[in-house]
Amino acid sequence: MFAKENIRKILSSYGNPAIATICSHSALQIFAGAKQEGFRTIGICTKDRMETYRAFPHAAPDEFIIVEKFSDALKPEVQKELREKNAIIIPHGSFVEYLGPGRIEREFEVPIFGNRAVLGWESDREKSRLWLEKNAGLRMPAKVSPDKIDRLCIVKFDGAKGGRGYFFASDRNELDEGIRQRIESGMVSEEAAKTASLQEYVLGTRYYFHYFYTPLSGKGFPAGEGSVELLGIDRRDESNIDELHRLGMDGGELSKRKINLSYTVTGNQPAVIRESLLPAAFSDARKVVEASIKLFPPGIVGPFCLETVCTPNLEIVTFEVSARIVAGTNIYADGSQYSHLFFGKPVSMGQRIAQEIKIAIGKNMLEKVVY
Ligand code: AMP
Repeated sequence: MFAKENIRKILSSYGNPAIATICSHSALQIFAGAKQEGFRTIGICTKDRMETYRAFPHAAPDEFIIVEKFSDALKPEVQKELREKNAIIIPHGSFVEYLGPGRIEREFEVPIFGNRAVLGWESDREKSRLWLEKNAGLRMPAKVSPDKIDRLCIVKFDGAKGGRGYFFASDRNELDEGIRQRIESGMVSEEAAKTASLQEYVLGTRYYFHYFYTPLSGKGFPAGEGSVELLGIDRRDESNIDELHRLGMDGGELSKRKINLSYTVTGNQPAVIRESLLPAAFSDARKVVEASIKLFPPGIVGPFCLETVCTPNLEIVTFEVSARIVAGTNIYADGSQYSHLFFGKPVSMGQRIAQEIKIAIGKNMLEKVVY
């Protein structure tokens, strides 16, 4: 990993830090929040997107660094320019996707908000299970062996964007038949089929919790050496799975007509949960933070999201963690129901990140939140 010592040196050479990110995902919210807190903002942008990012004057970055493609942010000359401009990068989903967690950890010599080691843990299914289930003790969908299918399972393939090729199986025949069909139609390669993993399908309602862990303040729900703040909850719109019921067909008929399920996220909707579920939501977040501190100190810092299904028994089952700002927070550019309860005024996740950097600068503790 790029040594913390080097980041410390770079930070000590910074005069007036600026906030930078790639123009995608939640960048508008991040820039708007940073500007509200008085930071200069820098957008790493492709030419074709500049008009869009200028079309929201309140959120448009103060300056652009133009790249041909987003992964060019890894080029030494772009990194140098970012350092010269005293940039602190806010990582988001597209930043991690385009640059890759491994290369960010090893090659990206620009200060990043949050612990960069977390990116390797969230993007690896086995490691995130070790973190959430074994160490944090969260309930996750059970892993099911192909030889002992005893319940409805969702069959997943590694690296399947938008859940491409995912299907359901309740027994070995359905599993074998589903895999055979997908190989035959070319949707899944024989190689990818070997990575098929079976997970208990958890029936319930999906909620995506937006948390912020701060090691610098104890105002939220106590966790680690600071506290967790719940700043919002969303539900994702996933195409086409969310609308399949409109066809009124059962699984057999869908597959006869060669209609494939997909889970491509197309948008997000706001949500609140029953107030009586909040203690469990906070307690899960605390366990995740405290396990992260043990596994990869100093653990998760800043925004993260637990992606969950709430069962009819009101049990929260977590199927994934995103250890950075999630795009679902874009609903709350003007604050959420929960951030209102925390701040008494509209504060977005983007603004909360900028606040944390400002507080850390004020306390001369920037290196506690920037890695
Ligand atoms: P993933 O590729 O693991 O993020 O899964 C894509 C989508 O499939 C999720 O956003 C959920 O809607 C759904 N999903 C994944 N795993 C499960 C599960 N075990 N039970 C129910 N739904 C799931």
